[in-house]
Order: sequence, then C-alpha cells, then structure tokens
Amino acid sequence: MVESYKNKDIPGRTALVTGAARGIGFRIAEHLGKQDVNIVICDILSDLAQEAAKQLKSRDINAVAVAGDVSNPEDVESIFKEATDNFGDVNILVNNAGITRDNIIVRLGAKEWDDVMAVNLKGAFLCIKAVARSMMKKRYGRIINISSVVGLTGNAGQANYAASKAGLIGLTKSAARELAGRGITVNAIAPGFIATDMTDKLTDETKEEFLKSIPLKRVGTPDDIANVVSFLVSDAASYITGQVIHVDGGMVM
Ligand code: NAP
Repeated sequence: MVESYKNKDIPGRTALVTGAARGIGFRIAEHLGKQDVNIVICDILSDLAQEAAKQLKSRDINAVAVAGDVSNPEDVESIFKEATDNFGDVNILVNNAGITRDNIIVRLGAKEWDDVMAVNLKGAFLCIKAVARSMMKKRYGRIINISSVVGLTGNAGQANYAASKAGLIGLTKSAARELAGRGITVNAIAPGFIATDMTDKLTDETKEEFLKSIPLKRVGTPDDIANVVSFLVSDAASYITGQVIHVDGGMVM
C-alpha cells in the first residue's frame, strides 16, 4: 500500500462494507482493515459473512459480521445499530452489495426489475440515509458507491442492472452535493469486468467478448477496485467528491 494513502488524522475509523462476505466487497474490507480501520462485514449471507470476519480477525483486523438485507429498511436499521454497538459511529460506507437478474427486456419480469433496483439502488439509499446524520455531526465521512461501466454504456440483457447502476451515479452526485458542506465526500467507482463469482456465471463466449473490449487486455481483479477505495477514503482524496472513477482497463473512455 502506498504510504500517502494512509489517513493519519483520524484513528479508529470504522468502515461498513455491504455485500462483503465475498468478491470485491471482501477484498475492499481486507484492504481497509489493513489500514487500521475497524471493519463491519455486512451481507445477506450470514454464514459466509461470519467466515469472512473470522478470516480478517485471523489477520489482526478488527472485524465483525452483521447479517441483513440492505433493501429492507428494518434490516438496515439493525445493521447500523449492531455496527455502532460494536465500534461506534460508521465513518466510511461502501455500498457494494449488488445482484444481477439478467434477461432481454421482452422477457424481463417486473419482479426481476424490482429485485435488482431494491438491492442495488434502494439499498444504497437506505445505507446512506442511515449514516448521514452521524457523519454530518462529526463533519467527516467517506461514502463510496460501487456502480458499473454498464451504468454508463448500457448493456443488452441487463436493462434492470444497468438502470440501477446509472441510478447509483445520480444518487452519488446528489448525496455529494447535499453532504459536501459537512466534510463528507461521496464518490462512485465504475468497475469493468472483474473476476468474481458474479462474473464466473457468464458464458465463455460472453467473457471472450468482454475481454476483446478491454484495451489493457486483462480481466480486472477485486484488488484493482479495493486499491481505488483505499485512495478515496484517504486524506489524499479529500478534495474529490461527486466523481465516477472508472476502473475498467480502459473499456470506457
Ligand atoms: P458477488 O461476488 O456476487 O458479491 C456480492 C455480495 O453481495 C454477495 O455476497 C451477495 O450475496 C451480497 N448481497 C446480495 N444481495 C444483498 C443484499 N440484499 N444485502 C446484503 N448483501 C447482499 O459480486 P461482486 O462481483 O463482488 O460485485 C460487487 C459489486 O460490484 C456489485 O455491486 C456489482 O454489481 C459490482 N460490479 C461487479 C463487477 C464484476 O465484474 N464483478 C463489475 C461491475 C460492478 P448473494 O450471493 O446471496 O446475492
């Protein structure tokens, strides 16, 4: 890790990362934990979340697992209560939980539309709402929303997912404007094609197609995303807000 990415002014910060039991979220949690940030692993998968927290603890990271569904307002309330009971106020929120329910529009059901919107977009809104007041009081906070390149380009067969990820960009910019006066930055990251369980489900043909569209000629890794999160939560990034950082090997330029 680059030394200047460390936050020297605020010790004992706490980060809550949603969908952190595996994939990109887990790696983000691990990177932040290595910077002495307390970690709250939030995921709908309770056992996997516990296992993830155990793994982090074995690496001397202060971590706790909190199970819940970010699209459910009552769950979100209890997630943040449990986080605060363990570590005090949450200073860093990473809205990473996301799902896909792919189909072409003529076959896409209203339920698949609603489910994706509920987790990817409403979930992020509920979590921001849950931390905003305490961050405002402290006049400090870092919020990072994990969007996607398809939120910028659209994608055939992913109208629901692309719309939710485009919506996250609007949410990011609106929250950034509302919270900037209180020292809180809000940014989005738009990953390209990253190797995780989510993309493992794609057919070899689709993976090949994606690869052809990446100028840097490699699939991204969860570390590629976690490195940018580490930067955005650091003092070095304190003058950056309302931005969408593309981490996609040059797919979208
Ligand atoms: P992943 O491996 O599927 O991990 C996402 C985690 O979020 C899973 O553990 C998932 O549990 C959890 N989750 C789902 N719904 C939830 C809910 N309602 N409340 C709490 N947790 C929930 O996905 P990933 O590839 O790491 O992706 C992480 C984020 O990056 C997502 O927002 C995704 O859209 C975005 N992204 C990924 C890529 C990529 O190429 N991988 C590209 C662009 C953007 P379940 O397994 O039970 O659903």
